[in-house]
Amino acid sequence: MVLVRRRIVAFLLACLVGVVASVAGGAVPVIQDVILTDELKSVQVVRELRYRVVDQGALPDALRDPSTVGGWEPYTGKVSSAVKNDKSLWFGFRILPAEMDDERWLLSVQLATLNYVKIYTYNTVTGEWWDSRPVGLSYPINQRYKPSRHLAFPLNLVQGQPLHVFMEVRSPNMVAVPMQLIKENRFDIVGDVDLLAIGVVLGTLVVMSLYNLSLFISLRDTSYLYYTAYICFASLYLAAMTGIGPYYLWPGYQWLTDYGLLTFASLSFLMATLFVRKFLELHRYGELILHSNTLLLMIWLVFAVTFSLSHSRPMFHGLGVMSIVTCFVGLGVSLYLALKRSIPALIFSVAWLALIVGTLVFSLMLEGVLPFNYFTAYSQIFGMVIELILLSFALAYRVQQDRHKKELAQEEALSLAVRVSQERSQRLEAQKETLELQMGLTEKLETQVMLRTRQYEEAMEKLEEANSSLLRLSMTDSLSKLSNRRCFDNMVVEESRRACRNQQPLAIVLVDIDFFKAVNDTYGHGVGDGCIRHVAELLGSVVSRAGDLLARYGGEEFVYLLPATSAEQAAIVAEKSRKLVETTPFLTENGELSLTISLGVASWIPESESDYTLMIEQADKALYQAKSRGRNQVVVNTEF
Ligand code: GH3
Ligand code: MG
Ligand code: MG
Repeated sequence: MVLVRRRIVAFLLACLVGVVASVAGGAVPVIQDVILTDELKSVQVVRELRYRVVDQGALPDALRDPSTVGGWEPYTGKVSSAVKNDKSLWFGFRILPAEMDDERWLLSVQLATLNYVKIYTYNTVTGEWWDSRPVGLSYPINQRYKPSRHLAFPLNLVQGQPLHVFMEVRSPNMVAVPMQLIKENRFDIVGDVDLLAIGVVLGTLVVMSLYNLSLFISLRDTSYLYYTAYICFASLYLAAMTGIGPYYLWPGYQWLTDYGLLTFASLSFLMATLFVRKFLELHRYGELILHSNTLLLMIWLVFAVTFSLSHSRPMFHGLGVMSIVTCFVGLGVSLYLALKRSIPALIFSVAWLALIVGTLVFSLMLEGVLPFNYFTAYSQIFGMVIELILLSFALAYRVQQDRHKKELAQEEALSLAVRVSQERSQRLEAQKETLELQMGLTEKLETQVMLRTRQYEEAMEKLEEANSSLLRLSMTDSLSKLSNRRCFDNMVVEESRRACRNQQPLAIVLVDIDFFKAVNDTYGHGVGDGCIRHVAELLGSVVSRAGDLLARYGGEEFVYLLPATSAEQAAIVAEKSRKLVETTPFLTENGELSLTISLGVASWIPESESDYTLMIEQADKALYQAKSRGRNQVVVNTEF
């Protein structure tokens, strides 16, 4: 792209230089015959050319009329009238073979983009005419005398016989027709070197584009993608320009052959402009720079579309102008940015300059201003290689800068991560401590709670014990250790209710010690108390059934409460008790003391829960009866 641009720009510059030189000189260069000698291996013929522009196919017959030669103009590096698409450009010159050896001379044209080239020769001594086959882009390469990208026509030169040479050229993309007389052997060698050089450059471009594509894939920076596209289109342009494309890469693809050169040139400019925009980050340098870039992008897009469809003459001239504009805008912008200390822009400027200089030299050579030699022939390729190397530096610098930035960011991220992890571990430590503290506190608390619970339970146990002993005490008679009156009063209500429910008899037996007042009076209260304990013990030994209750009823009176016991059964218990007391005297310090008891029995199935009051009454009555009948006996309520 840059290549195309530079090339055409340089070409136009060369034209300008040529015109200026002509005006300054004030004279048309003298047309000379080409004199070949044995020492020469090649001769540049540009300066010796005469030319004319005619309709296609109009001249061949007229050539045989020597008077037509007068219509030829000297070629000064610029064709005066525009060569339209239906016109042929004719060149003519005369060769004077001064000394000839055996080796064949060729007429070579070092531009591969010409569509149609044919030569005619006229030997002035023998009057012989010869014409070559037409060759160029419109014809297969194997029809040529030499199957190389540069055209070559064999010349039948005889020493001392001047030879007129006429060449017809038809091509819409014609910018120059660099001609050379060259010995066949030398043409072959130069062709090999030339092909090798182009191969190296194209190979380098392919490697560069793959490298930049891989950079784009890994870095996702679109400037590498644009650069890759730029290299691709530049390579395609180079291929089209050098003939490698139409002859080797896309032979038979007419569209590419006809329109490829200028389309690829425009697309290269487009991609270069896009690349510059992105790579130099133009948006950072104000709207003017950015908008001029946008304008160029749009113009190059129009060029690319137009050239892909037609050979537009006005557009072809516009291409030259736009190339100059783009070139100098690009150079100006990159120099301006370079002044602002943008290192990539500085490298850019130098790269552009390298290509401009290379192309300028190449174009001046094509115009005949500079001699044709290896340096001038390959100057554009040198410029391009230097440009590529420098742009690689710019990209490498960018990659290195990006990496540096990334490293800095990584370092920052790393230190941040370290700080975060430190803080996290500190927080964890604090949490651990808190947890341990909490655990310690919980443990302590639990121990304390357990201790308190145990103390509480112990206190409760003690309380319960105290309560039960209190209850026991409240239900126990302290003297006899039997249940007391209150206990009896509670129990009799309950047993009466149960007996009523179960429809079972309940027996109550009242017991009273006979003449006990006399015992007290005679032996004192201490002995009296002992007697009460003695009788209580004896009475207690008589009943053993679960549920039977013996209680002290008051004073020297006792009571049996016997559930599920009939009057007869109760009478048996009463009688057994009476006998036991009668036969078991109480032992005092002063000897034995005989005691007797009287018992009143009452028993029936209670009809109501409160029947027990009546039952106690009846037992009391029976006891009264026992007392009245003489004491020491049992009376059952049924007996009265
Ligand atoms: P009887 O029952 O045979 O008719 O004659 P009694 O002498 O037993 O007559 P009473 O029931 O009137 O007398 C009961 C006496 O029992 C009166 C009292 O001095 C005595 N007494 C009552 N409670 C106690 C006591 O707890 N200890 C002593 N030592 N004597 C008591
Ligand atoms: Mg009594
Ligand atoms: Mg009594």
